[in-house]
Amino acid sequence: MAATPQTRIVILGGGFAGLRLLYRLHNALHPHADIVLVDPRATTLQKPGMPDVAMAGKPVAQFRHPLQPIADRANARFIQAAAQYIDPHKQTVALSNGQVLHYDYLFLTMGIVKDYEAIEGFRNFGYSMCDDTEAPRLQEALKKFKGGPIVLGTAKTHWGHTVQIPHLDVACEGPMGEVTFMLDHDLRRLGLRDKSSITLFTPGQDFLEDVGTTVHHILHERMTVKNITVLRRQTIVAIAADHVVFSDGTTLPSALTIVIPPYAGPSVIKYSGLGDEKGFVPTDHTMRHLTHRNIFAAGDVNALTIPKLGHLAIIQADIAAATVVKELTNTGDVPLYKPEVFCIMYEGGSEATLILSDTMYGGQTDIALHGVSAHLMKWSFDSYYFYSHGHLPPDLVQVGLESVLGHVNIKRPRL
Ligand SMILES: Cc1cc2nc3c(=O)[nH]c(=O)nc-3n(C[C@H](O)[C@H](O)[C@H](O)COP(=O)(O)OP(=O)(O)OC[C@H]3O[C@@H](n4cnc5c(N)ncnc54)[C@H](O)[C@@H]3O)c2cc1C
Repeated sequence: MAATPQTRIVILGGGFAGLRLLYRLHNALHPHADIVLVDPRATTLQKPGMPDVAMAGKPVAQFRHPLQPIADRANARFIQAAAQYIDPHKQTVALSNGQVLHYDYLFLTMGIVKDYEAIEGFRNFGYSMCDDTEAPRLQEALKKFKGGPIVLGTAKTHWGHTVQIPHLDVACEGPMGEVTFMLDHDLRRLGLRDKSSITLFTPGQDFLEDVGTTVHHILHERMTVKNITVLRRQTIVAIAADHVVFSDGTTLPSALTIVIPPYAGPSVIKYSGLGDEKGFVPTDHTMRHLTHRNIFAAGDVNALTIPKLGHLAIIQADIAAATVVKELTNTGDVPLYKPEVFCIMYEGGSEATLILSDTMYGGQTDIALHGVSAHLMKWSFDSYYFYSHGHLPPDLVQVGLESVLGHVNIKRPRL
């Protein structure tokens, strides 16, 4: 099947996965495809910047990028609305503004829902850094903080069982590690560290269950040096004004509680019957829906994505785009899906730890490198994203990794 001007492509969600797809499909198919990008937001949110907003007080506007000019540059139409119902048989999407879109290919890239309500008391006493509402709210709370016990951690997320994924109790713990280290740094700077304790809880067997023993060892060393207590196998259920409650009934005093809530599938996926029992979209390793062959999912909404990481969203978007481009034009190769955990945990000041691990998926790479070069790499990455209007720089990541890892004798990862 050749791409024709009638090939209608609809992308639902302009986050990491959606924008990567937009750029990839535009590059390969323009002018033979009519691409529509749909998102209820006017701006795409660079979530990895939220810890900087919450902890360092950076302006939230720095991490919002308007979607209209991004779509214009890719010769796509942008519609600011939410997808409310997808009919895979009629191949239509009903939007919150009353429009109905017809598609030949549909890409589900609407991310997930953060279920703050699942933790009793969160709205009154809890804080988070997960989005552009919660991160500035946490920043305001920190400005008033005068010391005391701080409890922070990630809630348990439950996954569906339609596709095979490694066991993981949490959706994404990296940002919590970042916030923990940044908090320690800031409290020391403000002379409040002696008046404050920091306790990091995890529902998993260990903090960052998705990496191997080498990374754990390095992280534990850093947390011990910084006097951070780690509580394992603890699932938060409630937050009160001065304590938190875990599922086993134990409580812990807390003057400031910061959480990443459980993740849930988006309602449009549930209503449309396209998800597994938890509302995540089951696909094969080309990101194609298990039942509907012209629907693809990439990023957090895909049931395969464990943990929920932007890095995996990009890998999946590349695979989904390559699959459709091959189908339409019979050109290009479809990369194999080889997931890996990759993140750079900023720690405040000029320090950061780069983490790269695939042990959870049966690989042997398990690296944590701490230092200024990891921080420089994160800074370059953020700047590139900002100045290129939502382009993620895989080549830059590769170049950065080579410069950081050049002296280490490891198998070089595919990025
Ligand atoms: C605080 C924080 C820090 C993080 N740091 C890192 C990091 O350092 N490195 C890393 O790799 N990952 C990081 N992550 C994870 C990363 O941000 C996510 O994995 C990534 O954003 C997922 O991309 P996505 O495109 O699937 O979803 P998103 O980026 O969430 O984008 C989804 C888009 O879909 C839109 N949408 C929602 N509902 C609808 C609808 N019904 N119709 C149409 N559109 C809809 C949303 O408005 C949004 O624009 C972090 C996450 C958080 C919360």
